[in-house]
Amino acid sequence: MNISFCTHARTAVNLGSISTTNLQPIKLMPRTVLLNPGPVNVTDKVRQALMLPDLCHREKEFSDLMAAIRAKLLKAFDIEEHYTSVLVSGSGTAALEMAVSSSLSPERSMLVIENGVYGERIGKLCDIYQFKRHTLKLGWGELPNLEKIENILKQNPDIEVVSLVHHETTTGLLNPLKEVGELARRYKKIFLVDAISSLAGDEVDFESCPIDIVVGTANKCLQGFPGVSFVLFKKNELDRLRNIPQRTLYFNMVGYHKAQEAGGLLFTPAIPAHYALDVALDELIEETVAGRVQRYAKAAQFLRRGFHDMSLEFLIPEGWRSNCLTSLRLPKGMDYDRLHSALKENGFVIYAGQGNLSDTIFRVANMGDITDEEFKRFLKVLKTLC
Ligand SMILES: *Cc1c(COP(=O)(O)O)cnc(C)c1O
Repeated sequence: MNISFCTHARTAVNLGSISTTNLQPIKLMPRTVLLNPGPVNVTDKVRQALMLPDLCHREKEFSDLMAAIRAKLLKAFDIEEHYTSVLVSGSGTAALEMAVSSSLSPERSMLVIENGVYGERIGKLCDIYQFKRHTLKLGWGELPNLEKIENILKQNPDIEVVSLVHHETTTGLLNPLKEVGELARRYKKIFLVDAISSLAGDEVDFESCPIDIVVGTANKCLQGFPGVSFVLFKKNELDRLRNIPQRTLYFNMVGYHKAQEAGGLLFTPAIPAHYALDVALDELIEETVAGRVQRYAKAAQFLRRGFHDMSLEFLIPEGWRSNCLTSLRLPKGMDYDRLHSALKENGFVIYAGQGNLSDTIFRVANMGDITDEEFKRFLKVLKTLC
């Protein structure tokens, strides 16, 4: 069922001991389908998890919940043996700032590969923390050249961490995770990955890809709500990380990890987002990560066939695209705001391009709990407009 209740009715879910019997659904309306790259449409079960009784985060209930979420993250990606997990409240950028600021040793430098907004965000974080960095600066949507990366690694032994955005959401480009990871391994570097918009949506092979530190969030392909994000890192990284001086109060990764390992926490977390993530992870484990990646791939294929039939132009060539998002050039004479409004009137939210791309492209994500019927209806509506 893809019907969600309007505001009043939403409070009429079953809350166990809390009586809601005097609230009746007022009217049913089709939900808005979110074709933006997070926050995503969630299942009713995940939504209902937000309806909580009052509780204190320093009680056992919450401590158990955090432990369960941390374990389920590792279980979902089948990486319990070599990885550990750490949660932080905030959007994906919170976990990214935590990972970047906490993982570089003094006097060493970071390699930053910039081919979109999010690679540039890692660069900005390095600058804010006054890290020395080497940057491979590329056009948005341009695929990094592996030889160039290797040359930078060869010439700069001060590099300790190689960072990469897996799915560059700016364009929908999937960066070559495995190949860059292989280079990092060959040159004995730490490999730090922003997989915020690809974890559970595109394949991340933890078995064969030497990822040391990976950043994710609840509200993209994991199909939870915004408010909590996380870092998964190799257990054998802990000793190195512990020796890095603390550079920030709120984003110190080792500090969070230590507290969470002891069943505690440092600051007040976004409690409802955690309850929702716990349910979302149950659903992910049931669907399996491979199953979800498959479902997103099929959805993207279906949409792209439709876009192709409408003669829409793709920004990123076939073979480089993620499973999760498609960037399309705006048809001649079509302005983004007009397209966006017309689609929104029909219950679909698309996403604008960023920066220089804002006048020329629009983006359609297919993350989240969206049905085939909704994708079909979207293509039908889009066809009347393009
Ligand atoms: C969404 C996203 C982020 C984080 O953005 P927030 O606005 O903090 O959620 C970081 N990196 C990538 C690749 C993303 O898609």
